Amino acid sequence: MTGTATHGGDRVDGNDGVHDIDVAIVGAGFAGLGMATQLARRGRESFVVLERADAVGGTWRDNVYPGIACDIPAHLYSFSFRPPADWASRYPSGREIRDYLEQTVADEGLAEHILLNCELRQATWDEASAGWMITAAAADGSGRTFRARTLVLAVGRLSEARIPDIEGLGGFPGQVVHTAAWHADVAVDGARVGVVGTGASAVQLVPHLAEAAEELVVFCRTAPYVVPREDRRYTAEERAALLDPEVAGEIRHQLLTEADGAFRQRLGLHPDIDEIRARARDHLHRQVDDPMLRELLTPDYEIGCKRILLSDDFYPSLQRPNVVFEPSALDSVTESKATARSGRTFDLDVLVMATGFESARPPAASRVVGRAGLRLSEHWSSGMTSYASTVVSGFPNMFVLDGPNAALGHNSAIYMIETQLDYVLGALEFLGDSDVGALEVSPEAEAAYTREIDERSASTVWLTGCDSWYVDPDSGRLTLLWPGTAASFRERNGTFDPAPYLTSRDPSEGER
Ligand SMILES: Cc1cc2nc3c(=O)[nH]c(=O)nc-3n(C[C@H](O)[C@H](O)[C@H](O)COP(=O)(O)OP(=O)(O)OC[C@H]3O[C@@H](n4cnc5c(N)ncnc54)[C@H](O)[C@@H]3O)c2cc1C
Repeated sequence: MTGTATHGGDRVDGNDGVHDIDVAIVGAGFAGLGMATQLARRGRESFVVLERADAVGGTWRDNVYPGIACDIPAHLYSFSFRPPADWASRYPSGREIRDYLEQTVADEGLAEHILLNCELRQATWDEASAGWMITAAAADGSGRTFRARTLVLAVGRLSEARIPDIEGLGGFPGQVVHTAAWHADVAVDGARVGVVGTGASAVQLVPHLAEAAEELVVFCRTAPYVVPREDRRYTAEERAALLDPEVAGEIRHQLLTEADGAFRQRLGLHPDIDEIRARARDHLHRQVDDPMLRELLTPDYEIGCKRILLSDDFYPSLQRPNVVFEPSALDSVTESKATARSGRTFDLDVLVMATGFESARPPAASRVVGRAGLRLSEHWSSGMTSYASTVVSGFPNMFVLDGPNAALGHNSAIYMIETQLDYVLGALEFLGDSDVGALEVSPEAEAAYTREIDERSASTVWLTGCDSWYVDPDSGRLTLLWPGTAASFRERNGTFDPAPYLTSRDPSEGER
């Protein structure tokens, strides 16, 4: 795979330098590679995967900070349609997951379809050809143009790092690094390090920084709920058994069902929500003796409203003598001095921003222009909406993976992505079998699905328990998460049905 690789399946038409293809997939993370695998397995050759980075892997390529691992067991957080992988532990490291995705590319013969260093610049719906005109650019600025019948956006929802607007941050003389941009030259050994944020990445990273740094300051705006992680390495016998697809399939099903059971907590149902709250409180009490620190680490919002974190070493690391827990946000920076909202000031060498991602408004949406010149970002100006969490009215032959209301807080993202892949494959089959040129969901169907999401989410903790990044900041709607179990998502959205679509005939078929 290289930026200049030739790829199978496309055709350069005439002299215009435009590559004609059936399907253009944007993004080579779990979603894009899953889509590519499913197309390749159906014998389809005319597709490309455009990836802006120089390697595949998405989340697992970008997030390489010490301690990175998944927090959904890997036997569920992996493709069900691939042979089971030999996971060494329940929650493998990011490196192992990245290797798994690279292995997928090799085993499924995807390399010739993948264009690395190839960033989507603009995709514009072209009425005349009933397809997408796509321009992409390599790191050196050179461009490529594709005409694709179908566009699959697999650009991720946690792929654009967010750094809050902190006064004076630009003038900080030391290193400033976001967790998703970690690199080998971040000089934390023996340094005075500040970590901003205490979310999912921070709880993995902080124990490692606490060991390496001379002094570590953890800036915490909102204390998270933390429950025991209880990771363990599998024995040789277990690993051998788990390579059997039948055994792995049973475990996958068991893990999925167990995780879905936790959705009752997100509905605020008793005793489920009380039990998980007690589990988090007991963990805090067991691991933190000091009543004052305990108090500071006690969340002031309803459990489940933000991601419930798994860690056995986060609380212990906060009690090391070289660690300061600052129970307020980083407010401003003046040269090397970082001042917290509380007024306390710390002299620091390195600032690590564990501040999350631009998730509510995906930047790629401003690069997609649908019917009548409307940008996807404009369509989503008051929050993301869709039909079946996968298609958007006004954007024919376009599918969005891992986008609006397609994520979960309590279960595997891969299960959700696979459900969407089934939907897209059904739609592509329909397109192939019919003389329909453009498949566009009706605005009414999108509006009805949006109302359905609102109704389903009204009583969840995400809308009643706190402010979180799952909720659109303008509309106050739940736009990131599916307000239900993973199984209910599959039931609702796993099968393509043409009924809610407006269809138009393929212009290449001519008049009949
Ligand atoms: C640190 C971290 C830990 C996580 N842990 C878990 C977990 O344990 N369990 C879980 O269920 N989920 C977890 N997630 C969520 C995770 O993002 C998803 O599970 C999954 O990896 C998403 O895959 P994706 O393909 O949709 O997106 P990504 O992996 O983000 O891939 C998107 C790809 O699109 C590319 N791209 C974006 N814009 C463009 C463009 N304009 N042109 C070309 N390419 C572009 C990006 O470079 C990237 O490679 C975690 C997320 C993070 C950040």
